[in-house]
Amino acid sequence: MNMIAKKFPNAALIDGEWVTSNKTFPVYDPATGEEIASVPDLGAKDALRAIDAANSALPTWSTKTAKERAAILKRWFDLVTAETESLAQLMTTEQGKPLAESRAEVAYGASFIEWFAEEGKRAYGRTIPTTVASKRYITIKQPIGVVAAITPWNFPIAMITRKVAPALAAGCTIVVKPAAETPLCALAVAKLGKDAGLPPGVLNIVTTKDAPAVGKVFCEDPRVRKLSFTGSTEVGKILYRQCADTVKKLTLELGGNAPLVVFDDADLEQAVAGAMASKYRNAGQTCVCANRILVQSGIYDGFAAALVKAVNKLTVGPGLEPGTAIGPLISSEAIAKVEALVSDAVKKGAKVLTGGTLDNAGPLFYRPSVVGDVTADMSIVQEEIFGPVAALVRFDTEADAVKLANDTPFGLAAYLFSQNLGRAWRVAEKLDVGMVGVNEGIFSNEVVPFGGVKESGLGREGGAEGLEEYLETKYICLGGIDA
Ligand code: ADP
Repeated sequence: MNMIAKKFPNAALIDGEWVTSNKTFPVYDPATGEEIASVPDLGAKDALRAIDAANSALPTWSTKTAKERAAILKRWFDLVTAETESLAQLMTTEQGKPLAESRAEVAYGASFIEWFAEEGKRAYGRTIPTTVASKRYITIKQPIGVVAAITPWNFPIAMITRKVAPALAAGCTIVVKPAAETPLCALAVAKLGKDAGLPPGVLNIVTTKDAPAVGKVFCEDPRVRKLSFTGSTEVGKILYRQCADTVKKLTLELGGNAPLVVFDDADLEQAVAGAMASKYRNAGQTCVCANRILVQSGIYDGFAAALVKAVNKLTVGPGLEPGTAIGPLISSEAIAKVEALVSDAVKKGAKVLTGGTLDNAGPLFYRPSVVGDVTADMSIVQEEIFGPVAALVRFDTEADAVKLANDTPFGLAAYLFSQNLGRAWRVAEKLDVGMVGVNEGIFSNEVVPFGGVKESGLGREGGAEGLEEYLETKYICLGGIDA
């Protein structure tokens, strides 16, 4: 087994016990193709066992005070932070992103644990002025109950802590199915949670290759009161349907098709820096990556030239090598998709301004690329690219930009670059998305609400809103006041 993988568990976690199985599946380093570990390939029965455990742990965990839960979560935050370097190495080894980005993700992932440890103490209800002299109206907040979470591979720690921390802080217990590509980070973080004092059953991790089977159990079990999912819109829709029969609460963080709009009055340097940060982080494999770069005619040539210059400075290579800016994509399917999108665009008249081919670092490495003269009918701006390819679309007026930006079933993130405050505000209001970066390519953190509209999902993660997702409001009417 790989050295760094050896440091952390390679067994699933159910009811506080490390669970092994005769049936396992391998985890690969996408940079080298090396098998780094194998983990249990659990099934429907194990998923049920994990729900049993979460359900048994619920009464004790939910009746602890928020302060008691916060103390454990704070210890967890400290342990994750203390292990930043080894967690980052593990993440780069199983996911591929450059080490500096992995370190940043460990900090980002840990920040949710710290934030929700604090925020859990502020699950305030209300007293509502009465309408009848004999009655008083109060609301209290209570944990939803057992939660199930299904998470993707692109942020193997943060996508877990962004769900687990608010759930646990609110008093819920949880069962997590991490992506089969990146189960090791999930298990490592869970181990640190166990070390921090999370009682058995409060956090369970079910590793599996058979996501549909485990997902079905999560959706159909009436004891699971909430499902939180981050992943593709396609799978999100399946889960949404499967949760109908038990009327579960849902948080869905689905796909995006983020426009990044550069107006003529943008600061060119700022726009290029924003586009670089938004587009090429994690080799373009984030749901908020700029998927369509809409550039106004007057600045188009200057922007394209400056972007190509910046892109040509990016170093491609294994994430563990110092100086790497672009690591491998997650799989050969991801490479095939990027190649197909670029080739479709070129066939329809787009021009490759730089890149446009595999890199010789290995079969999963794609060169950071810029494709110009893209038009709205090309698949490259209709589908999520999930690779290091910027697609530039020219537009003329502000109204054209808004129309193009909103012409998609998705509505997660958008970015706009303009030095005109009136225009920036006006356009930000008109974009049908959950999040807008104005003159900024990176906006996510633990204190703000992350989420989308339209087919990009339901609910918000992070911020005060992120805690609400795991709470029910109970209204209590107290009668007989005026004796
Ligand atoms: P991605 O393109 O990021 O892999 P997916 O939506 O396919 O997006 O995967 C996100 C998560 O959903 C992963 O943990 C994956 O295993 C899981 N998943 C995929 N298909 C299903 C399904 N039918 N039911 C439940 N979970 C699923």
